[in-house]
Amino acid sequence: MNNEPSKAYLRKGKEESLKRFHPWVFSGAIHHFDTEPEEGDCVEVYSSDNRYIATGHYQIGSIMVRVLTFDGEQIDSDFYYRRLAAALDVRQHIGLTASADTNAFRLVHGEGDNLPGLVIDIYGETAVMQAHSVGMHKDRRLIADALLKLMEGRLRHIYYKSETTLPFKANLLEESGFLAGGKDVDNIAIENGLRFHVDWLKGQKTGFFVDQRENRKLLEQYARGMKVLNMFCYTGGFSFYAMRGGASLVHSVDSSQKAIDLTNANVDLNFPGDSRHQAFAEDAFKFLDNMKEEYNLIILDPPAFAKHKNALSNALKGYSRLNQKALEKIAHGGVLFTFSCSQVVTKDNFRNAVFTAAAYARRKVRILHQLHQPADHPINIYHPEGEYLKGLVLYVE
Ligand code: SAH
Repeated sequence: MNNEPSKAYLRKGKEESLKRFHPWVFSGAIHHFDTEPEEGDCVEVYSSDNRYIATGHYQIGSIMVRVLTFDGEQIDSDFYYRRLAAALDVRQHIGLTASADTNAFRLVHGEGDNLPGLVIDIYGETAVMQAHSVGMHKDRRLIADALLKLMEGRLRHIYYKSETTLPFKANLLEESGFLAGGKDVDNIAIENGLRFHVDWLKGQKTGFFVDQRENRKLLEQYARGMKVLNMFCYTGGFSFYAMRGGASLVHSVDSSQKAIDLTNANVDLNFPGDSRHQAFAEDAFKFLDNMKEEYNLIILDPPAFAKHKNALSNALKGYSRLNQKALEKIAHGGVLFTFSCSQVVTKDNFRNAVFTAAAYARRKVRILHQLHQPADHPINIYHPEGEYLKGLVLYVE
């Protein structure tokens, strides 16, 4: 980190969103830098009339500065300690830090915790950290040190997982590894008493989707006697709640063979020898087209169909097509849990896509629950873009 940070001067009038504490500075808002920063450096942002506004990480691209502070704080180990402590305090309030039956939760949710570009998930004594910005990547050791200090005695391992969407991919791939600990790591996550293998190394995201914890629990209540289809199952999350809830049969589907292998390993972990469960490595759309079984409870939790705004219209068609297939085939009196985790798809977009699907399927549909991301994925009120997970629980007559 430079001792003398570069200064970014905004174009006239471009400080409005920053005055409302929005943490992104777009490239178009910047008039010039006094000295050229390096990617990942901290820069200070000034108005056109030379007033300090914020300090953040610089990155080449459309979002050029991700704001870390509006208060002129020094970005050092103490800064990260304070931010991490605030994040931990929130999770303490939610009841996640000392729970006997859940040891997996999100400690840092990027902008939601005033740390844009940083994600940290906790699995027991291990933290898995991901940087989504070059600045966070460069600061990873500072962050790891602060985290160890904050959670001394509770945390033994910090695994840093490179985010391959960062610009300098090739270098980054070599960077994955333990920043602390690394020996005798127990890679089992416990969620509401169920156990999951977490594959930090090769798994998706930090190895597990902690954001569906509460929605999975809700599903458990609907499972008794049901034939359940868990589409896009990844490591089987929803399936085991269904089994515990008394489902008569559970089929898990994912196009990734690795995901299916992990799902089967998780069956052995939670319900060894239970013949109610079967897993299929298949494309979801094909599976829905060809399936013979009539399911009463279907979960659709696909990956983000749209990662950018320009992919929105195709994504909405994708959600409609998928939901229509499920709505056509679900048993009468069935229940559909359907989700979208695309950040660019709004709640209304998603509802419209699903309602269109229902109309094409000619089914009578009632909304039972409207679901969202859990409290350990908080939304910074100044950064509404942080709201990404939405779901509907539908009764299908
Ligand atoms: N429901 C999961 C998370 C789903 S993540 C949980 O609770 O943990 C999305 C999953 O969809 C990934 O595992 C990915 O492998 C799978 N996937 C992506 N495209 C698919 C397709 N066309 N058909 C089936 N699975 C797909």
